[in-house]
Amino acid sequence: MPTFDAASHAQSVWKEVMEYLARLHSPWVRQWFGDLTPVEMNAGVLVVRAATTIQQQYLMGRCRDVFNEAVQAVTGNLVTVNFITGTNAGGGLARFGDGYDDVILSPDFVFENFVTGPCNRLANVACQAVAEKPGRAYNPLFVHGGCGLGKTHLLQATCQEILRRAPDARILYLSCDTFINHFMECVQNGDMSEFRYRYRHVDVLVIDDIHFLAKRDRTQEEFFHTFNTLFQSNKQIILSSDAPPNEIPDMEDRLVSRFNSGLVARVEKPCYETRIAIVAKKAKLRGITLPEDVIQYIARRVESNTRELEGGITKIQGFAMLNGGKYDMDVARAALGDIIPASERMVTIPQIVDAVTKFFNVRLTDLQSKKRHKSIALPRQVCMYIARQKTRYSLEEIGGFFGGRDHTTVMHAIRTITDDRNTDAAFAAQLERIEQALATPMAISA
Ligand code: ADP
Ligand code: MG
Repeated sequence: MPTFDAASHAQSVWKEVMEYLARLHSPWVRQWFGDLTPVEMNAGVLVVRAATTIQQQYLMGRCRDVFNEAVQAVTGNLVTVNFITGTNAGGGLARFGDGYDDVILSPDFVFENFVTGPCNRLANVACQAVAEKPGRAYNPLFVHGGCGLGKTHLLQATCQEILRRAPDARILYLSCDTFINHFMECVQNGDMSEFRYRYRHVDVLVIDDIHFLAKRDRTQEEFFHTFNTLFQSNKQIILSSDAPPNEIPDMEDRLVSRFNSGLVARVEKPCYETRIAIVAKKAKLRGITLPEDVIQYIARRVESNTRELEGGITKIQGFAMLNGGKYDMDVARAALGDIIPASERMVTIPQIVDAVTKFFNVRLTDLQSKKRHKSIALPRQVCMYIARQKTRYSLEEIGGFFGGRDHTTVMHAIRTITDDRNTDAAFAAQLERIEQALATPMAISA
């Protein structure tokens, strides 16, 4: 009879689990999984040790189901996986035990995995400087740019680097939604002192997507005081947003001026060379090797944002699985053939209406009405302008859709918007954001 040893049994099961994942769930696999160590297999639980708390929380929070499926498939038993950590590395995330769990940091979102190029160099350098000297380099640090361009990645990398240097740093990283919800709940329950304690006793406060504070007057008021308290005691504040401070609609002036008082860094769409480097980096992280022509193909095909580049790799992984694990141009074409580059993509009038009405907070019925007030006329003209650029409809057809107007009205709208765009930088930036939203269907529906 073979001797039964919980440790070596764990090792052989773990090896099969990794093979199972590589075979059936390759997009989940990360290179750093290679550092995970199986500890024991006992009483229906496979215990695996991660190197850091951040990895452990990520595995428990994001990957547990897929690991459970794998271990059950390879053992044929109702086994589950439990991830533990033996060290305290990266354990300094502030926790107050109030049920507002901090966001799970992704072990992928570190500086080492962030590709820099002209599009994001300033933001990257600023984040690194802040990570080295929290509260002393740039305060606040405000990172803004379109959807999927790496803001969250940079913010999380900054947190992880601060923790690496000072494991006891009290960092609070959260989404703006969490801040808003927590605030409202504390107001309702009369727990404002608890709320203030939580947000004002940290070394670093990081709020992702701060533009969601738009129109939230009371939360803005509270955030203003949080900001001042932290700022006055040299505590670091890091914010991200989809727009620069003065273009966030309905943001109090005093907050806008606070946001502008530190360093404001913009991230832009990556250029072709940067996209190539990103694809190569992402493939490596997933432990796959893509031939040069496939990397170039992805970078050419997918140009709207970096998140979609990753989506492209995931698609190719899926097709490669059906193709015996081979990554070549046939697989790449089959996977991405239906993606039309954003610059060639046509959009529909309802999509334009959706993006514009959301941006200006008006209704379609207003656009189609006879109203001529500027608050309605401007969004209407913007719709006509974009419709002319991005669809094949004639001037008459476009005029017809927006309240039965004739083609001269549409021509006038196009001229007005073109002039404004050339002379008014703030307006040009607004248009750009609407166009960006249209190029990223996700951003419109979100
Ligand atoms: P945002 O918060 O701006 O919407 P994210 O930070 O979530 O965007 O980025 C989307 C995806 O793109 C993430 O997987 C991120 O790792 C990746 N990404 C974005 N920019 C870069 C970059 N410069 N280098 C490597 N990965 C990037
Ligand atoms: Mg983000």
